[in-house]
Amino acid sequence: MPDVLEVLEPATEAVLEELPRAGEEEVDAAVARAAAAFPAWRAVSPSDRANVLRAISAAVTAHREELALLEARNAGKPIGDARGEMDMVAQVFAYYSGSPERLLGDTIPVSGGQAWTLREPLGVVGLIVPWNFPLTIAAWKMGPALAAGNTVVLKPAELTPLTALRFAQIAGEAGLPEGVLNVVVGPGSTCGARLVAHPGVAKIAFTGSTEVGRSIAAGAAQTIKRVTLELGGKSPNVVFADADLAAAAAAAPGAVFGNAGQDCCARSRILVQRPAIDEFMSALERAVTAIRVGDPLDEATEMGPLISAGQRATVGSFVDDGAPVAFRGAAPDGPGFWFAPTVLCPVEPDARAAREEIFGPVAVVIPFDDEEEAVRLANDTIYGLSGSIWSGDGARALRVARALDAGVLSINSNTSVRVSTPFGGFKQSGYGRELGPHALDAYTEVKSIFYATDPT
Ligand code: NDP
Repeated sequence: MPDVLEVLEPATEAVLEELPRAGEEEVDAAVARAAAAFPAWRAVSPSDRANVLRAISAAVTAHREELALLEARNAGKPIGDARGEMDMVAQVFAYYSGSPERLLGDTIPVSGGQAWTLREPLGVVGLIVPWNFPLTIAAWKMGPALAAGNTVVLKPAELTPLTALRFAQIAGEAGLPEGVLNVVVGPGSTCGARLVAHPGVAKIAFTGSTEVGRSIAAGAAQTIKRVTLELGGKSPNVVFADADLAAAAAAAPGAVFGNAGQDCCARSRILVQRPAIDEFMSALERAVTAIRVGDPLDEATEMGPLISAGQRATVGSFVDDGAPVAFRGAAPDGPGFWFAPTVLCPVEPDARAAREEIFGPVAVVIPFDDEEEAVRLANDTIYGLSGSIWSGDGARALRVARALDAGVLSINSNTSVRVSTPFGGFKQSGYGRELGPHALDAYTEVKSIFYATDPT
């Protein structure tokens, strides 16, 4: 394997940057730096740690355009989306700047003295993140990890390491002490695996494929590491005939073709109640064919290319000659990993396109008859990350939301992620929660202390 990593620009296939590629030795060195920095970082007073996180948030905002441009070019995402993602990174640090002073414990009535709990940091945490929302997903992990007093080794995906590297510089300039955040750019199979095996790493937080998540859970078991896993999805978008069909159809493309479908929350299974299918499909076709696919740096672009030639080949395998293509949008010719937004209909629930995470701009439409069938089809998957319910009947929407085995649901909306609410999956979509107040549980251990006060 060459020591030089060529980072590509997916919209042009040109080399954007060349970087030295790390191996296991660099991981060990990064863990050693993080371990050395841990005692001092955990001892920083809560208000001072909060101030550092606030300063990082402000610095990200100050560098918003630079970071957004880097992310848009490296990940191939529309510049407007990239700006929104940088805003979220800043919000994450602002939100968790409130945490160091709010890591509350309990006092518990006991005999003979006083008992109370504390939330202690874990130590060095390893963060392994994917290429679809590179800095955003890293921030979801770094924010609570650093707020709780941990130090970090971050391994970005080799396809998209640039914003992580730049962020580490910006955070250092904003006051994050040396060694608290360490970025290692190298392959998952060596650097990621070494982080998982390293006895000095207390926890792995991972976002990526379910397959790699399984190997991480197995590897981490050797040292009883804490693990949180945000894995794949095959989320349902359930549209009942009594819904505002125009609104549901107008919103559906964004929910599956946003980020070119490379989104673990993508509502890639659109379940539509039979009486509404014709009206829904007509409105969906208008919306899909109107999507502007092109240069990520063009302000008007709504969808960019896929991340790599490999991803394009994988996605293409779901749209072979026999695929029931209902309609497709447009995509540019020439260099770049382009793929036109594609809707398949009707699709049998057991078809490969209806069961596997495609992670590209391909949606399947599956008709259903009634509420019971909608719930059964929606839950008929190994995944359980997110989903939507569109209905004009509030009681039905709530019933279905309770019946779906998924971690993040929305009613008459397709939103999944908010900084202040928990995000994570049921079933093989993973375990643990990111964002919101719950994320701190994943970066702290509960310690119980008893102090004897009764005379002996
Ligand atoms: P991976 O799960 O392979 O990659 C995610 C991260 O894990 C990357 O940083 C990768 O490093 C690292 N990694 C890979 N292998 C190991 C390992 N053995 N030990 C530790 N870390 C490892 O995703 P892919 O990029 O291969 O994408 C394949 C499919 O996964 C997609 O088509 C999609 O279905 C799913 N996926 C889901 C995501 C989600 O958000 N839920 C995100 C990304 C992918 P590196 O890439 O640098 O080698």
